[in-house]
Amino acid sequence: MNQQKPRYRRILLKLSGEALMGKEPYGIDTDVLREIADEIDEIHQMGVQIALVIGGGNIFRGVSGASQGMDRSTADYMGMLATVMNALALQQALEKHGIATRVQSAIDMKEVAEPYIRRRAIRHLEKGRIVIFAAGTGLPFFTTDTTAALRAVEINAQVLLKATRVDGVYGTDPEKDRAAVKFDRISFTEVLQKNLKVMDATAISLARDQDMSIVVFNLKTRGNIKKVILGEPVGTVVEGFGHVE
Ligand code: UDP
Repeated sequence: MNQQKPRYRRILLKLSGEALMGKEPYGIDTDVLREIADEIDEIHQMGVQIALVIGGGNIFRGVSGASQGMDRSTADYMGMLATVMNALALQQALEKHGIATRVQSAIDMKEVAEPYIRRRAIRHLEKGRIVIFAAGTGLPFFTTDTTAALRAVEINAQVLLKATRVDGVYGTDPEKDRAAVKFDRISFTEVLQKNLKVMDATAISLARDQDMSIVVFNLKTRGNIKKVILGEPVGTVVEGFGHVE
């Protein structure tokens, strides 16, 4: 086991579906998948208990389907199924490292994944298995960001890590505004009041109510996951500043 001392014992890492796309316009880039699995393997070797929530935006998003005239609920169910495909791909990539993983799906599909059972998920984590939560919450009109906040709270994770394509939380969109300023720390309430694009409001309010700190960081910078785990100042910490707001 790696000797560096992790700051966290149990984490929930949220990866967007887009993170798996790499340079591809759509779907899964296997090189990127391998790189992500390498980084997860590094922190797994440090003894950290890891749960993952994976999005589906690289394959299908409910809002896009709805904007093209589909019924929103149907489109959302399609989005949830997309997350299952990503979860299976991620499971494969992790198992190539010899890491035992379990996919738990919020929509029953016993041929490909276990059902989501909270206590069983915790047991897997305690045994050093990585648990990938697929199919979101199982409910339309929610997102995988909200799923991540919910599952993080349910499994008593110490922190929710939100891996994105930008370096943290900014006052304005850093992909559009070159003068955008990054926050090192920000409160849940400020994120909500300023409507900052960190995670959707449902996810942030749940994290606020349950005092679940979130670290937002850039997944594309190699080694960032490990830095966050070691408590190095990376990205932005969204928190309640020591009290439930
Ligand atoms: N989704 C849903 N309920 C959930 C989680 C996800 O309906 O609890 C659907 C929704 O349509 C969403 C899609 O699944 O657009 C993919 O998830 P998301 O957009 O959160 O993925 P990401 O942006 O992280 O790739």
